[in-house]
Amino acid sequence: MTLTPLQELAKSLHNCQRCKLAKLGRSQVVFGVGNPHASIMFVGEAPGANEDLKGEPFVGAAGKILNDLLASAGLSRDQIYIANVIKCRPPDNRDPEQDEVETCKPFLLQQIQLIRPKLVCTLGNWATQTLLERKVGITKVKAQAFYMKDFVIFPLLHPAAALHQGNLMDTLKEDFKKLKEFLDKHSKPAEPTSAASPAAPTLQIDPPNPAQMDLFGS
Ligand code: URA
Repeated sequence: MTLTPLQELAKSLHNCQRCKLAKLGRSQVVFGVGNPHASIMFVGEAPGANEDLKGEPFVGAAGKILNDLLASAGLSRDQIYIANVIKCRPPDNRDPEQDEVETCKPFLLQQIQLIRPKLVCTLGNWATQTLLERKVGITKVKAQAFYMKDFVIFPLLHPAAALHQGNLMDTLKEDFKKLKEFLDKHSKPAEPTSAASPAAPTLQIDPPNPAQMDLFGS
């Protein structure tokens, strides 16, 4: 059976040894899951213990929160694609290190290039800063649209933030409400579905006016 380019990419990373995480206790590379034709992609930070065992992003406690938040925005996991900035679990869930992010980032960019989402929701600081290519705090930029050349970035708090600080759950819910409003505003009528490609929102996001392009004052 011939593999799709996305499957080829996953296969090429299967036993990746490019950074030190390969030797620091990971069980497997967690490439990403979901609809390869999704118009909406979510990007987290790095696999945790559950993800490392299962080989799928967001299957632990943070994943449960994410599923509920997705449902509140009218989304299900089979409509979207989910990946992480780095594809291997850092020991003891420590933060990713710069060399690890730099090594793995090109593969995240290739995933995005192959899936061609219209909207990329970055979860937390790591994904947001990696894709915006700016050292901005998530609380400053969350729940707003940033127009890049090929897609829009919509930063959101990381769902795990609500595990550590219960009061952030309300903020997350509010921000997913704003995501739903953005989706409703930019949705086109759904295209015919097939089992292989469940009904996914089709988005039409027009290029912004120059004022929107200038959000960072650059
Ligand atoms: N946190 C992440 O950033 N990614 C996962 O896959 C799980 C938890």
